[in-house]
Amino acid sequence: MRVVPISLPTPFYIGPVNVYLIAEDPLTIIDTGPKTKETIEALRAGLRKAGFLVSDLRRIVLTHAHEDHCGLARSLRDEAKNAEVFVHNWETGHRHSRLEYEEHRMLLVRAGVPDAEIERMRALYEYMRRYADSFGDDEYTSLWDDGELEFESGSLRILHTPGHTPGSCSFLREADRTIIAGDCVLKRITPNPVLSPDPIDPTRRFPSLAEYLVSLARLRSFSPTLVYGGHGEPIHDYEELFHRYFRAFQDRQAQVIGLIPKLGMTAWDLALKMFPQADDVHRFLSVSEAVAHLDLAQTEGKIAYELRDQTEVYKPLS
Ligand SMILES: [Zn+2]
Ligand SMILES: [Zn+2]
Repeated sequence: MRVVPISLPTPFYIGPVNVYLIAEDPLTIIDTGPKTKETIEALRAGLRKAGFLVSDLRRIVLTHAHEDHCGLARSLRDEAKNAEVFVHNWETGHRHSRLEYEEHRMLLVRAGVPDAEIERMRALYEYMRRYADSFGDDEYTSLWDDGELEFESGSLRILHTPGHTPGSCSFLREADRTIIAGDCVLKRITPNPVLSPDPIDPTRRFPSLAEYLVSLARLRSFSPTLVYGGHGEPIHDYEELFHRYFRAFQDRQAQVIGLIPKLGMTAWDLALKMFPQADDVHRFLSVSEAVAHLDLAQTEGKIAYELRDQTEVYKPLS
């Protein structure tokens, strides 16, 4: 089973995105890149180099529904006529091309984000969504954990690896323990556990970081020899990356706990303290990061929290 990585340009801060062509029957692409003219042209060129056309695609599989990964899914499907789109059904909000505004707004209010900032984040989100099409409930097949994507000469095992987003999936080729991991594993940066409503109960917050740590450990249990990430170079030494990520999370946890004043602080206060320079989409991501770490520290009993009005205030243990 031939895996062909194709790097595609994006208009986003993160830079190019990696998509993966499985050059075997049924011809399958894992992720698509965002919906821009430059991206589709680069994708066509990449496919051509491998000996294929967009119209040859039979399956479009998405690691998760962020714009840089899913943006062209509908265009490719329409051009390839009978191609089937696969995405985990926990990617609901993004898949529908609408964040569940009410749920998301509630999470941001609880994190102490001021109204004007919430409005700015929402406007940015609207802007970002121009880079992706939406999908209705009847237009995709849900990926399921431990399922198989069958190919002529083998299969890819589907691993639900939540954390970066609730429905993030990775794909394992067991024969040589190669994993295509989307944004679950990135060589040079630790992925953001993005603030999301819980897909089971959208009034609650998805425990992103706790889930993410489980996903990283699960990938480790397969002793991967090669991991293809959504951005940057492939990872040959997953053990090294795993320990590096864990150290980074532990350091951040210690930093977060150390920053909480006696009187308490919200996730928003913490985000401003940790990332005073963050602007644009990084404002939202810094809140995500703060919430994720506060959440984990609190569930592990390292800090306390109370609800004041509608806002969560974290305090040191007395
Ligand atoms: Zn992502
Ligand atoms: Zn990405």
